[in-house]
Amino acid sequence: MARERLYLFDTTLRDGAQTHGVDFTLADKLAIAQMLDELGLDYIEGGYPGANPTDTELFGRKRGLRAAFTAFGMTRRPGRSASNDPGLAALLAAEADAVCFVAKSWDYHVRVALETTEEENLASIRDSVKAARATNREVLLDCEHFFDGYKANPDYALACARAAFDEGARWVVLCDTNGGSLPHEIETIVAAVCKVIPGDHVGIHAHNDTEQAVANSFAAVRAGARQIQGTLNGLGERCGNANLISIIPTLKLKKEFAARFDIGVSDEALRRLVHLSRALDERLNRAPNRHAPYVGESAFATKAGIHASAILKQPRTYEHVAPEAVGNRRKVLVSDQAGRSNVLAELERIGIAVDREDERVGRLLEIVKEREAIGYAYEAADASFELLARRTLGTVSDYFDVIQFDVNVEQRYNAKGERVTVTLAVVKVKIGDDVLISAAEGNGPVNALDLALRKDLGKYQKYIDGLKLVDYRVRILNTGTEAVTRVLIESEDGSGERWTTVGVSPNIIDASFQALMDSIVYKLVKSGAPA
Ligand SMILES: [Zn+2]
Repeated sequence: MARERLYLFDTTLRDGAQTHGVDFTLADKLAIAQMLDELGLDYIEGGYPGANPTDTELFGRKRGLRAAFTAFGMTRRPGRSASNDPGLAALLAAEADAVCFVAKSWDYHVRVALETTEEENLASIRDSVKAARATNREVLLDCEHFFDGYKANPDYALACARAAFDEGARWVVLCDTNGGSLPHEIETIVAAVCKVIPGDHVGIHAHNDTEQAVANSFAAVRAGARQIQGTLNGLGERCGNANLISIIPTLKLKKEFAARFDIGVSDEALRRLVHLSRALDERLNRAPNRHAPYVGESAFATKAGIHASAILKQPRTYEHVAPEAVGNRRKVLVSDQAGRSNVLAELERIGIAVDREDERVGRLLEIVKEREAIGYAYEAADASFELLARRTLGTVSDYFDVIQFDVNVEQRYNAKGERVTVTLAVVKVKIGDDVLISAAEGNGPVNALDLALRKDLGKYQKYIDGLKLVDYRVRILNTGTEAVTRVLIESEDGSGERWTTVGVSPNIIDASFQALMDSIVYKLVKSGAPA
């Protein structure tokens, strides 16, 4: 049986830009549009041309995208003609492949928010769609508050959708603007709409206010809709929009959808999903959600010992899909709750060959337990675990030795009479017979120490070029009598590979130093640096 085409519409750059704390620059928008295009989405909504300088400039330039780049804006204002509305004119003047209008479809909103008549709102939809069609663009209509409107007055909500379809709109998009609808309601209402408008002209735009935007999108598809709108990582105002990063793998990997539908995302693009999701967070300076379905760091992480041994034998026992399909990886957490089988599983994953009965495995497990008891967290710090394992098995070289470091934090008044804090770190490193001294200023003690450490590592310098610290997390733990500090550092190299290291000490600088050292040594091991 031939599969039906299902279309994906991304609104990260428009609705996603409403996210609290997110502010896209023009460069961000161009880079994200490129990422979306490579992923294989059908439509990319860029923003509102004419509404702000960034969007106006974005729609003024050549972008060279395969996807239909879509401009968003309002239908003509009540009481004006389509040819005499500056907002509509700016929208139609944009360099866009498609135009998406937003219009009210809830009679209550028409009266109260728009302060016009139901008939004038319908005329505005018809005139606007007609004007955009006349410029030979594909046209979409977002029916705002469609589900609430349908519950209040189904005839009027449907009349709005019909008005756009009859004038030649390619898509009529049903929006759950307030995000409060539930999957069974969505399924019933979309099925009713699809009796009037063919489903291959119907789209769904769900918000996540009951944490069901993804489920609502699938409910709409089950009822006949053939376009899904959403955002990367579920960005969007309040609780976000439907998350395309969860929707895409479900469409590709779950039989109910995979057997019935084709989407523009290839298997190869799917395998880069984790990378794409994290690259977006990186660009927005947000910490990735570890528990995100499919792409989170913990999405395929298993803790308990009994599960770990089964996973090693047969991954399908505890995994709903293969992690590699979305570019993620299986992770067996090493923790004090677990036993030998977790350690063996993790050693196998990181490619350390060791006999099951080797006594060093038992020794490693003991060290892990001892150190976790004083605050180390190896399940979160995979690179520190790998170093510990390699050291216990005797395969890590002593590349260099930090014989002394000194961090000085000083607060004083500068020449302009402003109070400033200045931090300086000095590090003395011994490499073979050479002693190297480096100093660096930083915006804080850890930053200065990090910069000084990585400034000059002599013959090893070339192996750590491109290394950078991307996340730094501190927790104060109360282990019995005294408080200790646990520092987790996430690092990244030039190829985008990331790893996490841990340090524990009553002193935050010392804990940070341990984690920084592990990060550098891990990178040297990975790069095959000579001893
Ligand atoms: Zn929305």
